[in-house]
Amino acid sequence: MVKGIAPLLRSLDTRTTTPVAKVADAFYLSPEWRKLVDQIIAKRGRICEDPHCDGHTHRSGMRVFADHIIERKDGGEPLDEGNIMLRCGASHSRKTAAERARRMAARG
Ligand SMILES: [Zn+2]
Repeated sequence: MVKGIAPLLRSLDTRTTTPVAKVADAFYLSPEWRKLVDQIIAKRGRICEDPHCDGHTHRSGMRVFADHIIERKDGGEPLDEGNIMLRCGASHSRKTAAERARRMAARG
């Protein structure tokens, strides 16, 4: 009865497989992306470009997050600075939550 279990366990061995989510996130760790973000911040400053931002959390030298305006999975250009918007932490969190809700709703 237990004959089929060994191959099954082998296929679940996570040491030899890479989770899909990590492959997608690797883009944001790439030198190309980091260099582009540095260039954009050097050019635009540490600002929040979110039109819905209330600005309450903004201060000089704040941490900013670079986001794709059209996300890569929606066909947006990954390394085109015209497709990248800077956001403060508060705006970034709000946008991420809104995006997740939108995708959940779209999925049904
Ligand atoms: Zn903001």
